Amino acid sequence: MESQQEMTPAERLIQVTLAGNLVILDPIKGTEKFYTANDTHDRFTNDRGEEFTAEEIVAAVNERLVEAVQQRMASDRQTTAAQQQNHAFCASCGKPLVPGDRFCRHCGSHI
Ligand SMILES: [Zn+2]
Repeated sequence: MESQQEMTPAERLIQVTLAGNLVILDPIKGTEKFYTANDTHDRFTNDRGEEFTAEEIVAAVNERLVEAVQQRMASDRQTTAAQQQNHAFCASCGKPLVPGDRFCRHCGSHI
């Protein structure tokens, strides 16, 4: 039995049921997709009747993970920018600061 640390991020999103079917967690929507294993357990069918190999499913999950990370980074950048704008006030005079400035444009205090 592998420990959590040895699993790749993609493997953590893929659960294998007792029957050998796959439950894939979407890292962006948080929804689950179900894939039914065929008799030989080397192919899996989704709810639209499309068939995939395990490798194809792992590749798709990896692509989705990359998307999820990119979305997270983009939203973190937005949050950071918003926080900087919200908190960018001079400690000395209380006037709003211009992002990137090292000195207050109003009173000249070092930021
Ligand atoms: Zn100031």
